[in-house]
Amino acid sequence: MAENRLALQAKRVWFAYSHDQWVLKGVSLEVPRGAFVAVMGPSGSGKTTFMKVLAGFLRPQRGEVEVLGSPLEKRLPRWFRQQVGYIPQQLGLVRSLTALENVLLGCLARQKGVGPLLGIFPAEEVARAREYLALLGIEHKAEERVFRLSGGERQRVAIARTLLQGPSVFLADEFVADLDLPRASRVLEGLRELGSRENLTFVINLHEIQLVQMFADYVITLKEGAIVHQGPAREMSWKVLEEKLR
Ligand code: ADP
Repeated sequence: MAENRLALQAKRVWFAYSHDQWVLKGVSLEVPRGAFVAVMGPSGSGKTTFMKVLAGFLRPQRGEVEVLGSPLEKRLPRWFRQQVGYIPQQLGLVRSLTALENVLLGCLARQKGVGPLLGIFPAEEVARAREYLALLGIEHKAEERVFRLSGGERQRVAIARTLLQGPSVFLADEFVADLDLPRASRVLEGLRELGSRENLTFVINLHEIQLVQMFADYVITLKEGAIVHQGPAREMSWKVLEEKLR
């Protein structure tokens, strides 16, 4: 992995699901390490698609993506899945397992032996999993099975699982959508705190402008697959957003 001050770089990325129906139209973005970037834009503007391209799940037909200084090739290197944590909208949790067990799935890649297959994890991983659940305010739900949890609680379990993976880049698609403003603020506050301690980079789709102003450093706005606005998050407002989306 090359040393680079950028965590992510998208260079004129074009993507279509089907022939010539471009969903991303020449999107370029540079994200320095340690930055928190919010992605805004109306439904259907290409936010999820862009996130999946950055996460290496979709390959752009044109342009290039570099993650931690390395261009993304067709075959993703082993380090990639550990270093880049991605939370999809569907979360990908195992409903029949408890919150804690789901979080522990985040450390599977670095475990050896049959212990994890039998549900036995090293004590330090369990302690860290509990620490992340506490950071996100759901330590009291650790032993609850996921199917019993609310949408917002599930979202926080998915975040904790991704944190336990130990990524340096954290990508998430609308992951606080099911939380009310105070809870979403608490989660983002926890993430920012952890992020500055561990130099994490965040790229997150956010709807709520207040959260963008409070927690992001930088914001980009997508419209019909192109960036129509980018700038410091504190300068974002409904007025700016409305103007750019007109
Ligand atoms: P957003 O996240 O901003 O709502 P998306 O990236 O989900 O936008 O979608 C952008 C466009 O791509 C939409 O027109 C959507 O219908 C289309 N699209 C998304 N996923 C697929 C898919 N798997 N196959 C075909 N078209 C898709």
